[in-house]
Amino acid sequence: MLKRSLLNKFKRKPLKRTLLKKKPKVINHEEIERINYFFFSIWRKTPHYCTICGAWLDNEPHSYMFDHILEKEKYPDLTYEEGDIALLCLSCHDCKTRGFFPESYALLIKKTKELFDK
Ligand SMILES: [Zn+2]
Repeated sequence: MLKRSLLNKFKRKPLKRTLLKKKPKVINHEEIERINYFFFSIWRKTPHYCTICGAWLDNEPHSYMFDHILEKEKYPDLTYEEGDIALLCLSCHDCKTRGFFPESYALLIKKTKELFDK
């Protein structure tokens, strides 16, 4: 009996799951349909060029090409707002996400903010 309690005392505590992995956001089928429809309608009417570097984005849309000019986290109401979407190539989107973008894009962010902050 004593032995067991000693063993338990030194048993390693399991790591908290939250520290190991960020919980994935669960979205339902309708939400996916809505996202696809939203992005596809933009893709249909927008020339397929990167807003920052002008690179041709091909004829096949990919989710990384759609940038929320104002971050979704800060402006959740604009998630499905066409005016908050700009097409970007993978490398420009990656830079923008990390906070690196040219003056022209900073201006676009400013203008979009002014448009929706009313
Ligand atoms: Zn680009």
